[in-house]
Amino acid sequence: MSIPRFAVIGHPVAHSLSPRIHTAFGRQLGIALEYGTIDAAPEQFESALASFAAAGGTGANITLPHKARAASVCEHLSDRARRAGAVNTLLRTDAGWEGDNTDGVGLVRDLTQRHGLDLRGRRSLLIGAGGAAAGVAPALLDAGLADLFIVNRSRGRTDALAAALGDRARVHPHHWDDLGGLGGFDLVIHATSAAHGGAAPSLPGGLLAPRGAAVDLGYGAAATGFLDWARASGAGSAIDGLGMLVEQAAESFLRWHGARPDTAGVYAMLRERDAAPVTGD
Ligand code: NDP
Repeated sequence: MSIPRFAVIGHPVAHSLSPRIHTAFGRQLGIALEYGTIDAAPEQFESALASFAAAGGTGANITLPHKARAASVCEHLSDRARRAGAVNTLLRTDAGWEGDNTDGVGLVRDLTQRHGLDLRGRRSLLIGAGGAAAGVAPALLDAGLADLFIVNRSRGRTDALAAALGDRARVHPHHWDDLGGLGGFDLVIHATSAAHGGAAPSLPGGLLAPRGAAVDLGYGAAATGFLDWARASGAGSAIDGLGMLVEQAAESFLRWHGARPDTAGVYAMLRERDAAPVTGD
């Protein structure tokens, strides 16, 4: 019997920790698998995916900048992928690709279970409106946030994400220039890719309420600038995206293999080797 093939498709993607995470999960549960990386520029996404399927690929993770595009190639979308308008997990079926989004459940599980945060009632700010922001927003609303303000460099994407989320009582799209006047937030989530190309966006003081929680979906060097800002702003918790990465991977693994891995050991291994420590509760 041939070993099932999986891959993460992104651009860039060489840095991805997903191959190590899925290989470790497979070893833990005695499930044989191959998991590689596929670097595809935006215009190459569809052809790269078709080649992967032709070569026997059975499942893929999708990372920046392809998450919205991936949703458009699916024959079927899970409810959470449809609400997000973005896909981070593809499953090959006889009918074609099925798309799911495990980013939101991964983030909420990391924040509530690993870091013990109660998200209910929090006045919250989401910075960014790309694939990752779209993926996490529905799950954050489901976790009981009081409000979700959204700002993004391009206003059109902010409005599109807010419209897709509905819930006009709790979702408030704003222009980036409004940031200084929005008051303090109990939860600030940084979901831009700006640090990959240089530095995290500079943010005004007073954005984080005293002892508020600050979360960067990035990890390692990409999270340093935002988390430094958060600590300087008096954050009660400053959390990077490493735990989310492991949790969303576990949820993808469950979809593909029907078994949920234990994430604690893999998280500890990656924390030790690849990313600066988290501070706060
Ligand atoms: P996308 O390419 O889909 O979106 C990029 C986002 O970043 C857009 O909102 C874009 O704004 C914004 N942006 C890019 N450059 C700048 C800049 N210089 N200043 C301000 N905003 C900028 O990427 P993703 O949403 O998929 O990824 C975003 C981040 O989340 C990445 O750091 C990624 O590594 C991380 N991530 C972490 C995960 C985890 O498991 N921990 C999972 C998924 C993502 P605009 O619309 O104006 O272009």
